[in-house]
Amino acid sequence: MPSKKSERTQKEPLGEFALIARYFAPLARGFPGAYGLEDDVAVIAPSPGMELVAKTDAIVGGVHFLPSDPAGLVAKKALRVNLSDLAAKGAVPRAYLLDLLLPEGVEESWIAAFAGGLGEDQALYGVHLIGGDTDRTPGPVAIAITALGEIPQGRTIRRGGASAGDALYVTGTVGDAAFGLRVLKGALAALDESAAAFLTGRYRLPEPRVALGPRLLGLASAALDISDGLLADLKHLCEVSRLSAVVEAPRVPLSPAAKAAIAVSEEGLAVALAGGDDYEILFTAPKSAASALARLSRDLSVPITVIGEMVRSVDEKHLPAVIDESGREIAFSSAGWTHF
Ligand code: ADP
Ligand code: MG
Repeated sequence: MPSKKSERTQKEPLGEFALIARYFAPLARGFPGAYGLEDDVAVIAPSPGMELVAKTDAIVGGVHFLPSDPAGLVAKKALRVNLSDLAAKGAVPRAYLLDLLLPEGVEESWIAAFAGGLGEDQALYGVHLIGGDTDRTPGPVAIAITALGEIPQGRTIRRGGASAGDALYVTGTVGDAAFGLRVLKGALAALDESAAAFLTGRYRLPEPRVALGPRLLGLASAALDISDGLLADLKHLCEVSRLSAVVEAPRVPLSPAAKAAIAVSEEGLAVALAGGDDYEILFTAPKSAASALARLSRDLSVPITVIGEMVRSVDEKHLPAVIDESGREIAFSSAGWTHF
């Protein structure tokens, strides 16, 4: 007769409470207000003079990731997209809650790898798991993470703070993730292997600008992270700031791999401007902040590039414009990119 324990490991899935105790409670260690995930709630107090910033984002198997993607990577992406939002607002991340909806038959090894990925990113970004919920679902795996960060009271960098004449900046390089997704879908076959690997890596595992974001306090007038695409997110910033923007296409920072992709792609620069998932920070700042931003870029070894300027809107649409090297406007439509 097998023991009850071995019977369980052979037949029954690990129960909800055993799963939490084994894989998630260790991720709460070091955060006293999480009470070891043994209570109903977690308690979190901001440091003196600070207030909490909250953000939640869910990802669903088959929609935001493939069921075959490594579980550790899925976990990291779920956490990082939230940390990216906090960073863009200038917040320092502290803790997160995890709602995990699991279909019947998920292997314990998947959960172990998932928790392993979270543990690695907790060490990298200095955050703790402080609570959540675990349930069965008739659908695919679904993961919702709620991240909490802190920021000096009243200082959150909003989307609406830009002024006409502010310079428009972006961190890192853009378009990598969009090209990476195309590579994963079998396109851009002419690209060399190392460029393809760089681009797919940028799609699979974003690197939120966690160290940089809080350093933008006092410098940036408005900011958001690029998840929908540079132009789409710029449009959001313009709408809330009630301004327009002019982006100089030749200034948009591209990685060597993205340049190589543009060289072999019919869509070209449009992918970099319209493609999403870069998780860089797009922000505006008065021109007086330029030298401080250059220093910050050097200090943190994060490229910060001026790509244009905020301008008064001609109408209520607040549409950003893109110009080419000769100053001619480039228009984007569902049919693609054309010159006026
Ligand atoms: P309740 O019955 O009140 O909904 P649960 O039994 O679902 O509480 O959860 C017990 C504890 O375990 C709580 O502290 C909860 O925050 C935590 N918890 C449950 N699922 C997770 C998870 N996926 N990640 C982190 N903590 C979790
Ligand atoms: Mg519950």
